Formats: sequence, C-alpha cells, structure tokens
Amino acid sequence: MRTFFLIIVLALLTSTANKAPAQQADEQTRLQYFHSISSEEIAGWMAEICSPEYNGRLAGTPEYIAAAEWVAGKLGEWGVKPAGDGSTWFQWFDQPYTVVNDIGALRLQIPQKDGSMIVKSYVAPEDFYPGMNSGSGEVTAGVVYVGYGITAPELDYDDYKGIDVSGKLVLMNRDVPYKDVRDPEYAKWLKYCYHQYKVENAARHGAAGMLYIDGNSANPNISYIENMIVAGIGPDPLADIFAGLGKDNKSVLEQIDKSFKPASFSTGKVVTIRANTTRHPEGRACNVAGMIEGTDSVLKHEVIIIGAHLDAVGNAGGLLVPGGLDNASGVIDILAAAKALASSGIKLKRSVLFLLLGGEETGLVGSTFYTQHPLFPKEKTVTYINLDMVGNGTGLAVSASESCPGLRDYFTDANNSYIHRPMRVSTSRGVFYGRPRSDGLVFLADGYRTMSISTTGGVKPVFYHLPGDGATAVTPEIMEDAAKMIYLGLIDMANADTLNY
Ligand SMILES: [Zn+2]
Repeated sequence: MRTFFLIIVLALLTSTANKAPAQQADEQTRLQYFHSISSEEIAGWMAEICSPEYNGRLAGTPEYIAAAEWVAGKLGEWGVKPAGDGSTWFQWFDQPYTVVNDIGALRLQIPQKDGSMIVKSYVAPEDFYPGMNSGSGEVTAGVVYVGYGITAPELDYDDYKGIDVSGKLVLMNRDVPYKDVRDPEYAKWLKYCYHQYKVENAARHGAAGMLYIDGNSANPNISYIENMIVAGIGPDPLADIFAGLGKDNKSVLEQIDKSFKPASFSTGKVVTIRANTTRHPEGRACNVAGMIEGTDSVLKHEVIIIGAHLDAVGNAGGLLVPGGLDNASGVIDILAAAKALASSGIKLKRSVLFLLLGGEETGLVGSTFYTQHPLFPKEKTVTYINLDMVGNGTGLAVSASESCPGLRDYFTDANNSYIHRPMRVSTSRGVFYGRPRSDGLVFLADGYRTMSISTTGGVKPVFYHLPGDGATAVTPEIMEDAAKMIYLGLIDMANADTLNY
C-alpha cells in the first residue's frame, strides 16, 4: 500500500512537465507577457512616430529629437533603465542637416525652329525630387552628361576627362561601373560610389548644379555644398534631355560598364533647377540607449544589443516621408519586445541593450559613432542584432554573421515552438566590398558578431524613401510575431548558461 502511494506521488511529480515549481511560474509569466504583445498597440505606436509631428524624423532636426524623447519616455515607463551618456537616455553626436523649405522646381528649355523657346516645367515627386542637401538658389545652365561622375586616376577612369563642366549642370548616375561587391576588385571602386564623393567631385570640377539619377526619392545621404544646386531626376525629364541624341542613359551605361571607358558628352539641353533650403551646421542627433541589466554577478557584464535606426529621410519641401516600414517598423518591433520583457519582471542573467540609432539615412552616422564610442565593451558584447524594415510580410527571417550562426537558434526555436511562421535562416557572408548600407554592416566591419531579423513574403507595396512609406505601409500582425520572437529569443539568449555561438 505504502509502495503504491509512493508510486502515485512519483507519477504526479514527473507528470508536471518535468519542471520545478519556480520554473513553471516563470513559464507562466513568460507566456502571459508573450500574449500581451499586440498588433493593435503596435499599430498605435506606428501611427504615433509616423505622425507629422515628427516630420519624417530627419536626424539633426528638433523633430527627430522629439521622436527620440518619445521612445525614451516609453522605455522609461516600462522600467527600462537609461544607458546613454552620463546615465541619460541619449548618446549625442554632431549631425548637420538641411531643411528643404519648398519643393523647388525643375524646368527644361526647348528651343523652337522659329528661334523662340518653350519651357517645360516638371512635377515633383513624379519627375524630380528636391536635393535633400542641396544648396539654396536657382541655376539655369547647359546639361553635361558625366556617366558616373567619377575621377579615378589610379583606375585610369575619369568621367570629366576632356570635358568642361564649369558653370554647367552635370547629369550623372549613382554607383560605379564595377558591380560585383563580392569581388575584392570592388574595393578599388568603393570610395567612388558614395553620394558624398559624387557631389564633391562635381563641385571640384566647377559644376553649378547636379541632376542625380538616383531612384528619384529622398536622399539626405549626400554632402551639402553651399553653391551646388542639386535635384534628383525621374524618367520623363531624363528622356527629354536625351531626346534627339540617338541614345539613352541605359544604353550609355551598358557601354561604360562593358568597356570601363567614360562616355561623357554635352547634351545641348538647358535646364533650370531651383532649390529653397536652409542649412543647419549646428545640428545634433542622438542614439537612444535603454537597458535591462542582467542579474547574474558574472554574466550581467555580457551585453546583447538589439538595435534599429530611428531616423528617416525627413520632409522634402512638403513631400513628407514618414518612414513607416523604413524604419519605424524595426523600432516598434523592439519597443514591443522591450515592453513585454521589462514589464514581465523576468530576471535575465545577461544584460540587454535596446539601441535606437540616429543618422542611418544620413550615412550610418549613429552606428559609426557607437562603434567608435561604445557604451559597453566590445569584448563583452554577445552580438549586435539589427532590424531594418521589419514589418511587411507573412514570414520571419534570421541571419547571423559567420562568427555566431549558433545564436540564430534562440529565435528559430521561439518561432518553431510558439509562433509557427515560415522562417528563413541564413548566414551573412563576411565578404562584402561595397558601400555599407545598414547599421549591421558597420558593427560587423568593426568586429562585432552581428545578426539581423527581418520579415519575408511582403504583402504591401514598398515605398522606399517616398511619401507612401507611412504608418500603414506595414502589416502589424507580422510585427507582433517578430516582437514575440524577439522577446522569447532574448530571454533564452540572456539566460543560457553558456552560449553556443
Ligand atoms: Zn532603413
């Protein structure tokens, strides 16, 4: 009888999920806060930081700083602790910026057979885009086509060779003739693919203005030069400039790419660009840093950083780009996970740093500043996890650098056990010789182990750097699941006794 009783007790003990009572309570709390992450709340926060109040969150502007304060306020509300400069939420850096006061103008003068002139005016944003760092003023001048706008003597390549552009408008393309960013050969071309270089090189050659064939969208990642009037150019005016010349931009570029020989020429067309801008050299921006400190006396010094850029491309003279998918989505995914994590009171052994970066769109300024002025030692940083445009689709993806593929398991396990979205797993190759275009690549280049979380199977149109990228350009349901995966993955990564990189 006594034996029988003992067997029942043993059976009861083993049937309660093989877990000690404390662990069961933990699991209950974990799931309770997992379920507290809601797409409704996410949609509300999206509407908040995409609202006109923040004016497209251009780094350096007062509106960007207001957005940073809003994010810090939320983190503080939930019990996350400030981890920036001097126990504040913020890590400040210089960020000059330009306000585009109005849409400006783009006009083409078309001479008629009778000697008269008709003027064709174009419309933004379909036909042109104001230069986000243009000088202020109006210039009317002949247009000279300069291919990629590159002067590279060591590569025996000069788009300006034998051609006079002084006082003229230069018409040029983004990128470089060499295309394979996985080939070490690309490194030779790297410095020439920056937008900053292109406008500076045009100024060195005496150009008065620049028409940039750059996707016709807002681009603040370009140098400001006081007397250089810049506009992005769309397909129709480009075709008008090439009209009657017996060629088009595409065919000329193909020829350059094949031969590595410049093909610059004067187009014979006269164009007016008008820009109305105000430069703010005094601008400052910040990263927002909030932390949940670990509780293990040893492991608490190890830090998991999860980050997303908070800034967007601003407002081009009335063309407000709210930066919904790019990158309010990444920021809000992190906030949703941070709220659940902080509110749950679940103890973490390692520390977790929420890092909302400024100045990504102006040239990866915030992430570069962080790597130069890390808030926590690099050697103690487990990984930097980047989120950029994580909110459109039906599936999830996690990628890791070759230095930490094992860390992906924390997120894939979370998805497999609780979320069940289709999930793509990949390793980001360390070999990349091109222009870094994400904060994650800045951390990777500085020697951090990096990961990125993204969404797959996009269901909404993507309005990259365009006014359509608003609060509703995302699918809140996938953001909810991304946040849930982040929440669970961070708990498990922070609490693992040893990390299997
Ligand atoms: Zn982005």
